[in-house]
Amino acid sequence: MTTELSPDAPALDGLLEQARKEYEELAARGLSLDLTRGKPAPEQLDLSEELLGLPGGRHTSADGTDVRNYGGLQGLPELREIFAELLQVPAAQLLALGNSSLELMHDCLVHALLGVLPGATSRWVDQERVAFLCPVPGYDRHFALCERFGIDMIPVPMTADGPDMDEVERLAAENPAVKGIWCVPKYSNPDGVVYSDETVARLARMETAAPDFRIFWDNAYAAHHLTDEPAEIADLLGACAEAGNPDRAFVFGSTSKITAAGAGVAFFGSSPANVKWLLANNQKRSIGPDKINQLRHVLFLRDADGVRAHMERQRALLQPKFEAVARILDAELGGTGLATWTSPKGGYFVTLQVPDGCAKDVVRRAAEAGIVLTPAGATHPYGDDPRDAVIRVAPSYPSLAELEQAMHGLTVCVRLAGYEQREREQRERQ
Ligand code: PMP
Repeated sequence: MTTELSPDAPALDGLLEQARKEYEELAARGLSLDLTRGKPAPEQLDLSEELLGLPGGRHTSADGTDVRNYGGLQGLPELREIFAELLQVPAAQLLALGNSSLELMHDCLVHALLGVLPGATSRWVDQERVAFLCPVPGYDRHFALCERFGIDMIPVPMTADGPDMDEVERLAAENPAVKGIWCVPKYSNPDGVVYSDETVARLARMETAAPDFRIFWDNAYAAHHLTDEPAEIADLLGACAEAGNPDRAFVFGSTSKITAAGAGVAFFGSSPANVKWLLANNQKRSIGPDKINQLRHVLFLRDADGVRAHMERQRALLQPKFEAVARILDAELGGTGLATWTSPKGGYFVTLQVPDGCAKDVVRRAAEAGIVLTPAGATHPYGDDPRDAVIRVAPSYPSLAELEQAMHGLTVCVRLAGYEQREREQRERQ
């Protein structure tokens, strides 16, 4: 992807000298900035301030259930109605549960390891090897779950349309140990890819050697648009049912980046058999979810249009930050041949690709200058980016002014690491 400019030796000397000088100035500023995690900024959380005053003395859901009491394992029906449309899951097959979708993914893995999934012949833990396909770059917490449970990770390259489906189909068909795939289908973390209809159709209908293969469809950014053209993805659950693989998809989502991160509501959607399976497992684990929080979300968001209107307000805060990132990268690295980057139409991240062998160096130098970035390699299974080229940038949390400072600083580090590498290469060639 990176276009190679080959400045002659004197030109490179000049560029390197300039980059060193700028880096010294940067380091002398004693910055303390953080671009690591995709957390909402305080102003984004302020948009949901009203939640804290809800349900405002109200105790009952639409069907008269007292939300202060135990029970209601499926979650409030009116909240499931609101998110059914956004997550493309019929309300009857959608559960509204706790405060975190990552927890639900964790639990689904644990239950599949320790119990028998619909369609499975045995528990995963009784099998010699369990492996997951991991589109890369991907979300480090998915990979951390696999590591935690001894699930082998098989990287699959991402394309502009989603994972390389030739590879996915080949790996899923040939090996019964391959039990699943991680997918962030809309505005993927970290490269902002939106899965094409063809990718969704192929995932739904492909042959899998494992009868209990599951697609972990983490639709974390379902409503998180940054432009006037909201991305639509095909309905995976429907496509799986149509293709005769009704139990293949586990759909996850949450309001973490809609209302309050860590204090929202998480959702699980799937086939009737899988929903029954999760409910049976949940029944042992909990006497019911936090329905007070669910009711306050119903009262605050009202309906799917209410969610969309709220996300427009989020966009008004986020879009200028993503524009600033693009503007600074363009101004400082455009035409250098040292980097390429994504221009996501939604989600929370920008992926910066630097010359092979430079990502760790850039992250280290940035840290030494007081700018903390997600560790290089975090976007790959086992923290190992074989090309050492991908850096994930999370623009949401810092203020616009801090973000601009951090991005300027980051580009200085890219120039320094990139030109130093070019100088080494030139020396080696001589
Ligand atoms: N999935 C993805 C792809 C994410 O980026 C995040 C948040 N960074 C999560 C899940 C976590 O979601 P939750 O807060 O619902 O656990």
